[in-house]
Amino acid sequence: MNKSLVKSAFLLLVPAFAIAAWWSVRADTLQWKLTKDSEALVTDAKLRDEIFDALNAAENSGTDPRLTHFNVKAATAFHKDGKERVVVGGNVEYEVPEGIHGETSMLNHVTALYGPETTRKDVRFVAFYAQQCGGGASCGDCRDYQLATTDWEHLLIACGQTSDRSVKVTRFADQIVCERNFPEVDAAKVPLSQDELRRLVGSAQEARRGGVTLFTTTRHTGAAALSFSGKTYRAAGADDAAFHYRYPIGGLLQQAMTERDYFLRAILVAGEEGEWPVVNYRDRQYGYEASSFNHAAGKAPIVLILSNGRGQYRMTSFEASLPSAFSTADFMPEALKKFLASHTEER
Ligand SMILES: [Zn+2]
Repeated sequence: MNKSLVKSAFLLLVPAFAIAAWWSVRADTLQWKLTKDSEALVTDAKLRDEIFDALNAAENSGTDPRLTHFNVKAATAFHKDGKERVVVGGNVEYEVPEGIHGETSMLNHVTALYGPETTRKDVRFVAFYAQQCGGGASCGDCRDYQLATTDWEHLLIACGQTSDRSVKVTRFADQIVCERNFPEVDAAKVPLSQDELRRLVGSAQEARRGGVTLFTTTRHTGAAALSFSGKTYRAAGADDAAFHYRYPIGGLLQQAMTERDYFLRAILVAGEEGEWPVVNYRDRQYGYEASSFNHAAGKAPIVLILSNGRGQYRMTSFEASLPSAFSTADFMPEALKKFLASHTEER
């Protein structure tokens, strides 16, 4: 080797050493670390390592959020047949604002690879790789999906923040509020006149006689709403062969918004007589979004009322029934205000 080649080789080697040193520093300083509050939820070192492995895998999970450009990278890890299995998921958006969400994508991937029993028994957490943690929890639909497919009472949610590699862990159960925990109230405590309440009950019950129930059985409900402009809207659940269920609250909200009647005072849901109706989390998400319109306009939140058809009521709000929710009011508050102003000015 001649002198100049030795020199070139040396010049090539120096940066290589520097890079290697930089990587080892980087690997040391950028380890994932549980926040103080999270340590209490993750006492098992094996689980902690699985969470960190899942976050490392989630960093590279593929997404295609072509409308929002907001990546949701999810992953989980568990031991099965003596080996660690890491499964990732990513969000995809298409055409109108529709999407496959990161956490449902990942859980579906677990089921596809290992079967539904594994999803129910072995998935102990959903980890998200995020620029910043502290945003909203899962959307209503993803809550329905996680309720149905996982051991949700023990499921943990881990958010790994890329900026400082801190990992915040919470319980999925904190996102869940069972209808049984909506406070039961006397009719006199409902902030509607007795006549308005009576008419809403009748309207929701009448709506429930309709809809489409070829697949839905006991969960069939009807919903009715009263707007600030004094109009009533109602809808019943409707199922179809493609399993794109139309939800009752979503249905009546679409009617009200079609009439540019964006601000609702109350929504009442009725099920089978003598039973408390179920309000799916997806439907709560629609209600939460609509209630955030009220908030943007300085109005009171929508009152959510359940009727058992026998003069008994439970009352709450969409904010309370969908904890840590998000809506367009969080992502684009100015655009929402402008939209509402331009669509309600002639009313
Ligand atoms: Zn979702």
